[in-house]
Amino acid sequence: MKLSLVVPCYNEAENVAAFQQAVMAAFDDCGYSYEIIFVNDGSRDATLHNLKKIHAAQQCPVKVISFARNFGKEAGLYAGLQHASGEYISLIDADLQQRPEIVRQMVQILDESPEYDVVAAYQDRRREGKVLSFFKKCFYAIINALSDVTLQPDASDFRTFRRSVRDSILELNEYHRFSKGIFAWVGYNTCFIPYTACERAAGKTKWNFWKLTEYAIEGIIGYSTAPLRLATVLGSVAGIAAVLYLLWVILEKMLFGIDVPGYATIIALILGLGSMQLFCIGIIGEYVGRTFEQSKNRPIYIAKEILDYPEKEPEAVLPTDGDVQQDNS
Ligand code: UDP
Ligand code: MG
Repeated sequence: MKLSLVVPCYNEAENVAAFQQAVMAAFDDCGYSYEIIFVNDGSRDATLHNLKKIHAAQQCPVKVISFARNFGKEAGLYAGLQHASGEYISLIDADLQQRPEIVRQMVQILDESPEYDVVAAYQDRRREGKVLSFFKKCFYAIINALSDVTLQPDASDFRTFRRSVRDSILELNEYHRFSKGIFAWVGYNTCFIPYTACERAAGKTKWNFWKLTEYAIEGIIGYSTAPLRLATVLGSVAGIAAVLYLLWVILEKMLFGIDVPGYATIIALILGLGSMQLFCIGIIGEYVGRTFEQSKNRPIYIAKEILDYPEKEPEAVLPTDGDVQQDNS
């Protein structure tokens, strides 16, 4: 098998058949074998039903992995990678925002340029609002400043890579998965190509501002321990400020005999320091929580059903001349 397309699907009932047709049209005359691995991520609509129909028809080689509940796109990608048998593996969404024709270009680049292990697409033009775009820029600036890995802004999960890269990604079996970080962490030579995301063919996006914020926090916590140092920094600054303030109060009393009206200052300090402490405990809590989750060692996903290729009917073997047994009776 030359190419495996890993396609996570969550409530994509209207898209899966159109997606398969688009793939078949794009790879019609490609001259190599490919398979589509659909991962049904606990969809609540008719996605599984439609995938079963596609699987039964086998218009092109199709496998379906169906989760016991919604485990998230990252888990879907992991499951798809585990079942991919191709020499190249491609990650692509089911909603046709990412055109299969681009995957063909990616395969061509990998074929022609042995120095590249990954071809990743980044969005050259984004249709999102200025506010979201500003927050995304801030996120990349923060994570690149704090962590050891460097994330390429605007690079998506939409990428094709060699089997060795897939093996490395599977070795990172952490429970909280942040694929942008995982791709950057495993390294390998990556060729970035621009693409423009199309409109969603049907259905709606599963992302909103809060989910993106959670995803960003996941990324920063997963790839940097710098926030933990914030407690040390804030504590040191507050300690120095306290000593300086104390000196100032003593001097004021000795030189000018002014009694310090303490009430407002004390309230402000209690509130300020209290919130600083809670904030730092919160950060530590985020890390402890993740360590706890990981220590439980739970699987990344649970597959309720796996539809592999249908077994081929054994073909009738006609005896050749040499096989004909002599009847000596
Ligand atoms: N997806 C998934 N599980 C989820 C959320 C999304 O498998 O919990 C899939 C979804 O079906 C789609 C891909 O991930 O194929 C990207 O999702 P979406 O189109 O909502 O994201 P966007 O393109 O808006 O960033
Ligand atoms: Mg999409």
